[in-house]
Amino acid sequence: MDTRGSQALFAKAQDLMPGGVNSPVRAFKSVGGEPFFVAKADGAYLEDVDGNRYIDYVGSWGPMIVGHNHPAVLQAVIDTARNGLSFGTPNPLEVVMAERIRALIPNCEMVRMVNSGTEATLSAIRVARGVTGRSRIVKFEGCYHGHGDSFLVKAGSGALTFGVPTSPGVPKSLADLTLTLAYNDFDAATALFESCGDDIAGLIIEPVVGNANCLPPRPGYLQHLRALCSKHGALLIFDEVMTGFRVALGGAQARYGVEADLVTFGKIIGGGMPVGAYGGRREWMSQVAPSGPIYQAGTLSGNPVAMAAGLAMLDLISVPGFHEQIEAKTHLLCDGLEAAAQDAGIAFTTQRVGGMFGMFFSEHAVDTFEQAVACDTARFNQFFHAMLERGVYLAPSAFEAGFMSSAHGEKEIAATVAAAREAFKSLR
Ligand code: PMP
Repeated sequence: MDTRGSQALFAKAQDLMPGGVNSPVRAFKSVGGEPFFVAKADGAYLEDVDGNRYIDYVGSWGPMIVGHNHPAVLQAVIDTARNGLSFGTPNPLEVVMAERIRALIPNCEMVRMVNSGTEATLSAIRVARGVTGRSRIVKFEGCYHGHGDSFLVKAGSGALTFGVPTSPGVPKSLADLTLTLAYNDFDAATALFESCGDDIAGLIIEPVVGNANCLPPRPGYLQHLRALCSKHGALLIFDEVMTGFRVALGGAQARYGVEADLVTFGKIIGGGMPVGAYGGRREWMSQVAPSGPIYQAGTLSGNPVAMAAGLAMLDLISVPGFHEQIEAKTHLLCDGLEAAAQDAGIAFTTQRVGGMFGMFFSEHAVDTFEQAVACDTARFNQFFHAMLERGVYLAPSAFEAGFMSSAHGEKEIAATVAAAREAFKSLR
């Protein structure tokens, strides 16, 4: 595979940008080697600057649920852009978008559009702190909520100790306010709330973890967290930046039948444009500026072109049967990968929830962060490169979920499984 064009760009980029990229995971640090530079994308495929084509299971990290460059989304963008790119005033598409979100996610009685998932989550915890008058927040090991200061925190040495910053630049005094729990551990959550539940402003969780590979909630776990938050007057925040509109049209709340107090969105809601949103009950959201005192703003928020792209995307995925179809494709792929691994004698298992999936080099089923970390990541890295050489692009980290799109057909899935058969054999 000739990648000289990408290599030349990466050499130049490393001199111009930190690590040569504008978002760290793109640099392939985790899997080793060098990233490819994409020139264009269409349907299930990416094409790099050297003309190599890859079946893409990253989908811009989630937004491209109908495949790349979908004609309806593209047309909506072109039509809207003709009228101007940004006004800095209210525009009608923001109202349509808010109405659409509320129709799909009924407890989002009010929403605020922002420009990224990070903005959505850091605004949501500000609301939680603002309405409760409390300072502490709870997050889960292995969950990622963007790069806001309060989220770049890992657990201290004991279960109930103060958080430790995971990045220089995050003040220790702020990290102290973030408490960290083990995902899917019922008792740890109960114990934490019993010890300091009345100081907790909000608990934020990826209802299906997509940033520690893919970890579904154990039966009743989200309900358990709902009950703890309700009992102690803390807000339950579902970070649905990945799961929103993907694990079901109504997101994880609909799939698992649990209502959060605040919900954050990103990715699909922008159809590939830089968009995020947060929403919830009127009681909380009406306290956001300018109707309330909790400040949050954005010059480009509610951008008309981004709204048009997101609305076109939401139209496409609202067609009855859409989610059943991508879920069936995800099963087809994961069953094929598991069978290929088994035939090659490689310990491997998957998790799937709707249109997202995880791959684990492990002999056992994996549904906790501890188990995900214990998987053979060196083997994943080899597998990643073996697949890339065969024209299949998986997320360049053992700790990221994979994403299926409606543009992936049986042909692409069969080609992926055939590549995996060879790739697994090459690992022996
Ligand atoms: N929350 C979750 C669950 C995410 O997966 C991400 C990004 N991968 C974010 C928040 C942050 O979103 P963004 O990168 O758009 O800031």
